[in-house]
Amino acid sequence: MRATLLLLLGLALAACGPQPPADEVYRQQLFAFGTLIDISIAGADRAQARDAVRAVDALYQQQHRDWHAWQRGALDDLNRAIAAGKPWRTDPSIVMLIRMAQDFERRSDGLFNPAIGELLALWGFQQDLPPDRPPPSAKQIEAWLAHKPSTLQLHIEGETVRSDNPHARLDFGGFAKGYSVGRGVDLLAARGIRNFIVNAGGDLCLRGSRSGKPWRIGVRHPSGVGTLATLEMTGAGCVFTSGNYERYFTWKGQRYHHILDPRSGYPARGARSVTVIADDPALADAAATALFVAGTERWREIAVNMGVSDVLLIGDDNIARVTPALAQRLVFDPDWKAVEVVPPHP
Ligand code: ADP
Ligand code: MG
Repeated sequence: MRATLLLLLGLALAACGPQPPADEVYRQQLFAFGTLIDISIAGADRAQARDAVRAVDALYQQQHRDWHAWQRGALDDLNRAIAAGKPWRTDPSIVMLIRMAQDFERRSDGLFNPAIGELLALWGFQQDLPPDRPPPSAKQIEAWLAHKPSTLQLHIEGETVRSDNPHARLDFGGFAKGYSVGRGVDLLAARGIRNFIVNAGGDLCLRGSRSGKPWRIGVRHPSGVGTLATLEMTGAGCVFTSGNYERYFTWKGQRYHHILDPRSGYPARGARSVTVIADDPALADAAATALFVAGTERWREIAVNMGVSDVLLIGDDNIARVTPALAQRLVFDPDWKAVEVVPPHP
């Protein structure tokens, strides 16, 4: 009886030809934007999945070159022209990113400001390795603050960009990865792939399901190690986290991380990590960074302005503040005790 069953099963599988079993997940890793990108595809033909991932890789390598904040490329060319006070004809993709940056800067009341490239460089965050030198002096920071760089000082005519301020150096590090993840999602969908996760170092978008079952997503612990909570998702959605564990250096026992507060010129204080869930990955990425800067005082107001309703903010006090809709979906690690459910209104 058992043998017959196995035989029948074998026949059923054989009849499927080259199709993988429905619950098989095809996984491949790419490296771009300084991050390992893990793509998982469920229930698709293996060759189709492999070709689609190859196309995503080609796209990411191009974006990595064009939008890099300190290596030679299209964005660097534009930043040099801005510093020299000259108008510059740039790539259409950069024009689009500038328009998005301006929108995010306005909606975050200036807390998210992709024109802080000079400040990031001053802190040593525009280099591949963590800086091995003291933080900038108060005088250097004051000098930067006095220039008041903003993306709103950039003017676009066709593909030509001109800046009123030579110090408005662009760095899209706060949302370009999100935008790219979204482009990768579009590319996979256009190739007929329906069930997948594009995971860029813990920041991810997903589509569909895993053979009819929800994808299970882990929200990173604010220590940077392990998960703080899990949630199950199907359909479409993106989960982005900004944390002070991501990139930092230590000088004389003091830790300095890479999310800077444009009001003070120093690393933002008050939050350990912020997770945002939204349909639009560029918005989720920008909002996670913006709400990190907004901290425990202003995150509810800025979340409303930016149009995100699923937010989890862990403060320095180790209290997890979570919006009601997200609270219903998150399953916290039993070790994490302090959770406050707070609506995203001021
Ligand atoms: P990660 O890319 O490491 O996941 P984030 O999405 O939080 O982290 O982005 C952090 C990056 O955003 C920094 O490395 C820097 O390039 C940029 N950045 C830092 N502070 C700001 C800010 N106040 N506004 C806009 N971009 C910022
Ligand atoms: Mg971000």
